[in-house]
Formats: sequence, structure tokens, C-alpha cells
Amino acid sequence: MPGFRRPFLAANWKMNHGPSEARAFMSAFLASHSPRNDRTIAIFPPALSLGVARDALGARKDILLGVQNIHWEPKGAYTGENSAPIARDAGATLVLVGHSERRHVFGETDDATSKKCSAALQHSLTPMLCVGEKIDQRERGETNSVVVRQLRTGLSMVEKTALGAVLIAYEPVWAIGTGKTATPQDASAVHDVIRKELEALIGSSEAAAEIPILYGGSVTRDNAKALLSAPGVDGLLVGGASLDAGSWSAIAST
Ligand code: PGA
Repeated sequence: MPGFRRPFLAANWKMNHGPSEARAFMSAFLASHSPRNDRTIAIFPPALSLGVARDALGARKDILLGVQNIHWEPKGAYTGENSAPIARDAGATLVLVGHSERRHVFGETDDATSKKCSAALQHSLTPMLCVGEKIDQRERGETNSVVVRQLRTGLSMVEKTALGAVLIAYEPVWAIGTGKTATPQDASAVHDVIRKELEALIGSSEAAAEIPILYGGSVTRDNAKALLSAPGVDGLLVGGASLDAGSWSAIAST
């Protein structure tokens, strides 16, 4: 992804902001956030609000849109699901894959994340593969092995030559929506493990260095700067604090 050295700031609205609220949010956010070429901004609204967000952006090409999930099949009898081509057609260029709520609330497996990453890339959607350990895994000292397993399996169906096109988000499950943030040092340590695994998978440290690795988990306007300054942290994936246009504007300007 070009220009990754710029911070990559992403808002995950989860199941919040239907079309009416999305319209109001976009109008407030766009009014306060002028286009900047020193960062990449992305918003992941609920799928039903994507069209409103796309229309609100109009000619503003500085903000990317994504969906929070896809099915791996391109089309067919999968009631309730959206595919990569449907998401693309609706205005998304990104997709979250394997978010911890998909994994731990909806039972998404590592195997499903690999099919989704592969399907996304086949249909010109950039996957942001989310990885992260649960608190018991951290306490047992399994953080690195969990994250490495999620990465290896999630990317196992992606051609080596296509690996450079993915985005990674490290989101420790215990930090999501809890107000408990990883310290910048903790985040750096795990980002380093992720970067090394990407090097091994791609077989090139230069290519691995170009993949943005975002941190997510209770990011706020108050801690965004410190987390973004941590070595190896290329961006932030923000849930709760991205729902208010003022708070998101502040984070987007970090
Ligand atoms: P949070 O969510 O910022 O509300 O912790 C982050 C995420 O789940 O992407």
C-alpha cells in the first residue's frame, strides 16, 4: 500500500451509526477535517451505512471506506452475508478480517480468516487482518505464539507476491472496549514479533517493512499520540473513540 509511512488512522464503528447518524457524523467530520497528504484515514461503517458515507465523501478521495466483514464466496445463497465484490461495488476498498468480535462473539476461525483475506485480494479489496491475544493467553505467556498462529493461518492462502498488499492490526482482546490500553512498549514488542513473522512469510525484510501494522484497543484522543509514537506502530484502529466526530477528528489529526 503506497504511502504507508504516513500514519494509518482507521475508525471501526462496529454496530453503531445507522444511515442517519452516519450522514450527520460525516458532515461534522468532513467540515472539521481538511484533506491532508501526511496520513491515511479510513472509516469502517456498518455495511448499511456505507452508501451514505460514500455519498457524503463525494470528491473527497482522501478518506477510504471499508466494511467490517465479508463472506469468502463472491455470491450465492448465503443469507445475511456480504461478499467482496458487493462491498467493492458499494464503495469499500478495505475490509476488516478476523476482528476479535468476529472471532470471539461469532466463532470465526483462523481458517475462515484465511479464506476471507484471499477472497478480498482477489476482488481488489485490501484486507486488514486483525490479530491479538486474550487475557488468559497473555497471562500464560502465549501472546507471541497466538499472534504468529493467527498471522500464519490468516495469510496462508495469500500468494507470497500479494502479501505486500495486506494491512495488519494488532488488537489485544483484553484492551478492546475495556479502557485498558497496552503500553506503547507492549505494543512495540508485539509489533516487532508481527514484523519478523511477515519478513519470514514474504522472505524479504524490505517488503515486510512496507506493511502497515496498526494498534487497536481503547485508543482515545488522550493516548493516541503516545501509541502512534511507539516504535513499529504505523497506525491506530479505533472503536469507541471514533464514534464522536470531534473525538475522531482529534485522533485523525494525531
Ligand atoms: P475500542 O475498539 O477502541 O473501542 O477498544 C477497537 C476495535 O475493536 O477495533
